[in-house]
Amino acid sequence: MGKIIDGRAAAAEVCIEIKARVQAVCDKGVQPCLAVVLVGDNPASKAYVGMKEKKAAELGIKTVGHKLPAETTEEDLIALVKQMNDDPSIHGILVQLPLPKHISEDNVLLNISAAKDVDGLHPENAGMLLTGREGFIPCTPKGCVKLVESTGTEISGKNCVVIGRSNIVGKPAALLMLAKNATVTMCHSRTKNLAEYTRNADILISAVGVPNLVTADMIKPGAVVIDVAQCRVDGAWRGDVDFESALEVASHITPVPGGVGPMTIAMLMENTVEAAEKTLA
Ligand code: NAP
Repeated sequence: MGKIIDGRAAAAEVCIEIKARVQAVCDKGVQPCLAVVLVGDNPASKAYVGMKEKKAAELGIKTVGHKLPAETTEEDLIALVKQMNDDPSIHGILVQLPLPKHISEDNVLLNISAAKDVDGLHPENAGMLLTGREGFIPCTPKGCVKLVESTGTEISGKNCVVIGRSNIVGKPAALLMLAKNATVTMCHSRTKNLAEYTRNADILISAVGVPNLVTADMIKPGAVVIDVAQCRVDGAWRGDVDFESALEVASHITPVPGGVGPMTIAMLMENTVEAAEKTLA
């Protein structure tokens, strides 16, 4: 029987250090500030924004919220982003995704200053990660690595399989594990015989959004399993992994909810305080 990785507890531990860093920046006369932009009234996005604002308040990070109507034009949204880029009191800018279909997410993300891109989605930050330089790392994959490390598992030399290749989760997760000297395999919707790869994984990170994609027979005994997905099934949250049966095989596994989600929010806070610290350097 494996151990459940308590993402809430692991995030709370990380947040103790983040809070101290926030205080240290405040002591120098600067309060870290995160601008949060929500366009439209997608209930899930509203809930995520609410959780981020609540966590920021707990840690002493100021938030400036912009709740814009769904009809907001791309031009107006980009104008707001540029205005926030130029505002020295704002250290981090978060535009909650997804955006309404008439707005190009790419165009909006490209216009966020890389120095304030606390979600780590600007191509400049993605390039920094690719080339092993310091930049903002996307919050969810950064949190996945923290969760693996919270189990005491040595990453170096391990086989890591990442399912999913999005710019937000899968690709950066693979790069981060590679940087930690794992041997990384990336799988996606065109992968043939997915189980052949996953059964070889000492560390399995699944970021797809298909409930029960990963069943117990696809998991190597003793593997660490990080389930990033958040799927709504019959009113309940589920991940990609068939949790109950996987728990019998894995050494450690994240639950959904209560696994990757809380650590993602903690990493956003960490990136925000890092952005504020950089303005003092
Ligand atoms: P995405 O952009 O839709 O990417 C999904 C990836 O899964 C794609 O690369 C896709 O492959 C791959 N895929 C689809 N069907 C597959 C299959 N049957 N077998 C193998 N791979 C398959 O999603 P995302 O933004 O990365 O998010 C993934 C999941 O994580 C979602 O459930 C999302 O809600 C969740 N999420 C959670 C957090 C959190 O904080 N907990 C944060 C972000 C995302 P192709 O590239 O070939 O299409």
